Amino acid sequence: MRACLISVGTELLMGEIVNTNAAWLSSHLNDLGVDVLYHHTVGDNPKRLKEVLQESLQDCDIIITTGGLGPTQDDMTKEIVCDVMDDELVMNDDWLKLLHDRYEQRGRRMTENNFKQALLPTRAQILWNDRGTAPGFILADPEGLKKICCLPGPPREMTWLFEEKATPLLFSDVEDVLVSRIVRTFGIGESTLETELMDLVDNQTDPTIATYAKTGECTLRIASKRKDREEAQKAVDDMIQIVKDRIGKYIYSCDDEELVQVVAGELMKRGISISSAESCTGGMFASALIDIPGISEVFDRSLVTYSNRAKMEELGVKNETLEKYGAVSEEVALEMAEGIRRVSGSDIGISVTGVAGPDGGTEEKPVGLVFIGFAYGDKKLCRKTFWNTRSRNTNRQYAVLNMLDVIRQNI
Ligand code: ATP
Ligand code: MG
Repeated sequence: MRACLISVGTELLMGEIVNTNAAWLSSHLNDLGVDVLYHHTVGDNPKRLKEVLQESLQDCDIIITTGGLGPTQDDMTKEIVCDVMDDELVMNDDWLKLLHDRYEQRGRRMTENNFKQALLPTRAQILWNDRGTAPGFILADPEGLKKICCLPGPPREMTWLFEEKATPLLFSDVEDVLVSRIVRTFGIGESTLETELMDLVDNQTDPTIATYAKTGECTLRIASKRKDREEAQKAVDDMIQIVKDRIGKYIYSCDDEELVQVVAGELMKRGISISSAESCTGGMFASALIDIPGISEVFDRSLVTYSNRAKMEELGVKNETLEKYGAVSEEVALEMAEGIRRVSGSDIGISVTGVAGPDGGTEEKPVGLVFIGFAYGDKKLCRKTFWNTRSRNTNRQYAVLNMLDVIRQNI
């Protein structure tokens, strides 16, 4: 089954709201085994909505629209959908009565334009809306070959109507099931990743492999669509094994977990305690860990030691080390890590010191340069990273990810 989404609303085109409906619907449709061919966004403009509907009917079996079902003047999805499907709007007495009752319960009177919400196409299958005043509906063309499903714009109404009302009517006979898994990696760039997996990506029919990049991380979506769920599951699992054989050391999750979840989970499972000394991240590392429920079992403290004085007073970093190598250096990072381990008595001491930018870089120590110190048992090491995203905040987030990765690789 081939589908297309049409999001209606001028505020989408103005950039005033983000089109979360399209993302949500697309992911649900794909999970149902439906191929989504296009996303269109159109303003509250009858002529253009009509054109895009007509065009989409050419190569899709089903069109899903969101928005423009409300009572106001600019809401005109129903009228245009009726026009292209050769139907007309009539007053639906059941919905009218229901609206009446709802308004009465709240002690309010229906206004003239509310009546408009009870106007529905004669042939429509109505999607009764328990969460709002505009019902959704499904309207087929006179031959019953193509369908348009109209849903209201507000996300909490749209998602509920789609799942509870529209899905059983539209997709009960979709034969294929889609199984997908998200593999997450750190430390390998998107282009290197693609090169490593080039032949798999090029030859893909099923399972398919798609790569996405975000701050320092690359994600792979591996998906298979088969008649049989178990068969699809197996195809995906087999492909994950092949991917693991090639780039296994960069993979931290095959189930779409965050790096911090994976690392915190491992620390908790193994009862390894940890404390941190943070300079440029200013507590972001601690904050990331503290987001994870149950972390108190293993996380003791983080000291934000930003100035040289704090590094000396709180962690015992030596004045000579600071003077000789500078605060952003391997030597200081190591002394910080050992210092925090000593002060806290935790199993792991981890530290971070770097140049977050946007200014303050030098040729020798450019913006984006970060040292991460790590002390655990007999192991003492320092990771030097360099990545200038041109955003102070993103540089700091990247430093936190690197700290987590240092832990993951060394416990
Ligand atoms: P209403 O009866 O509330 O007017 P409607 O079906 O006419 O519903 P719109 O007027 O188009 O829908 O949008 C109502 C609100 O729903 C918007 O102001 C916005 O907050 C939200 N909304 C609409 N479309 C989207 C979308 N594509 N993604 C996310 N939110 C949306
Ligand atoms: Mg509206």
